[in-house]
Amino acid sequence: MFNNNTIQRFTGIETPFYYYDMEVLKQTLGACRDASLKYGFHVHYAMKANFNPQVLKAVQAYGFGADCVSGNEVIAAIENGFGKEKVVFAGVGKSDREINDALDADIFCFNVESVQELEIINELAAAKNKVAGVAIRINPNVDAHTHHFITTGLDENKFGINTWQLNDVADALRKLKNIKFLGIHFHIGSQITDMEVYRSLCIRINEIQDWFEDHGFSVKVLNTGGGLGVDYYNPDTNIPDFESYFKVFSKFLNVKPGQEVHFELGRALVAQSASLIARVLYVKNGQKKNFLVLDAGMTELMRPMLYQAYHSIENLSGQEPVGSGHLAEDNQSPFTINRSPVKYDVVGPICESTDCFRKDVDLPQSYRGDLIAIRTAGAYGEVMASNYNLRNKVQSVYSEPIA
Ligand SMILES: *Cc1c(COP(=O)(O)O)cnc(C)c1O
Repeated sequence: MFNNNTIQRFTGIETPFYYYDMEVLKQTLGACRDASLKYGFHVHYAMKANFNPQVLKAVQAYGFGADCVSGNEVIAAIENGFGKEKVVFAGVGKSDREINDALDADIFCFNVESVQELEIINELAAAKNKVAGVAIRINPNVDAHTHHFITTGLDENKFGINTWQLNDVADALRKLKNIKFLGIHFHIGSQITDMEVYRSLCIRINEIQDWFEDHGFSVKVLNTGGGLGVDYYNPDTNIPDFESYFKVFSKFLNVKPGQEVHFELGRALVAQSASLIARVLYVKNGQKKNFLVLDAGMTELMRPMLYQAYHSIENLSGQEPVGSGHLAEDNQSPFTINRSPVKYDVVGPICESTDCFRKDVDLPQSYRGDLIAIRTAGAYGEVMASNYNLRNKVQSVYSEPIA
């Protein structure tokens, strides 16, 4: 991702910023599209992972639909060229305004998370003389074997409808005239790397779709959600293994004639395409600890602080061959800069003790002014940035000129 030209280019740009490698993004999107088309699967991009307009434009160009979790995302998806017949809308707390916006946009499907929500969608659709397509989000009680902060498919989680409530769902579906049952929806968590988890999900989906068919409902859509993980430890292994992922579903999901299989991938499509680029502001050498204080913190990338997430951290300046002309700001000669390995706690400038990207990071000895890359930051990065401490909005830089 970084060669001497990119690093040279960064030298003149104010940090911190997100750097998007559009080539990596396109390779990833192409690989996912090709692998899904092999099985005729439908993929919706989970916009919440990254709704940077340049990213949306690239994703949309590859023919993906959009998976939205707010009314504003529904509106943004359509404004950015996603076809309304490819927009789905999930979320455990859809407000009346958001439901109305989605009804006005004539989206494909609401992924509904409670019986009460079904009743409200029905009521609001009736007021507009419309019929809303719905899929029932079911909590399959499958353990995603991922970090408990990002597990969503267990009985204890707030998402979806539990299977013991399905009779109530069936009664409501029969009674409510302004909703049309399209199928069933699942999403069990994020950063899932164990394909066995998806096999378990398939088995549960087969049981649950049989339940619906046995109760007189025709299940057209099987939406398996998203959650495919990426390799945060090897940021240059750019492409997640979409082939193996889709293969599990084609093998274990009982797809009947006329059924459509839908997916909602977020992270896997965009994570590897971006890095957060920051500079070392200060180096604090303590008796027990050495700290690198960066000009980026939890206001630019919150994942380590929010989910205890791992990101690979590199010193881009430290990778330059000795004598390449890099001059650290303390004016040591480039020929004498010591780049021997040191362990640092890499921290941000925000007034919170949790504002630490990682402890005990092995880096070459680092200096004020060095460029630091925090890798695999394309998903749940820029979109979670805040202006806490009245920080500036984080900027974005692209590998290609933007159209
Ligand atoms: C967040 C989310 C996704 C995408 O999850 P990833 O882990 O980014 O693939 C898919 N579906 C729903 C309903 C979501 O909330």
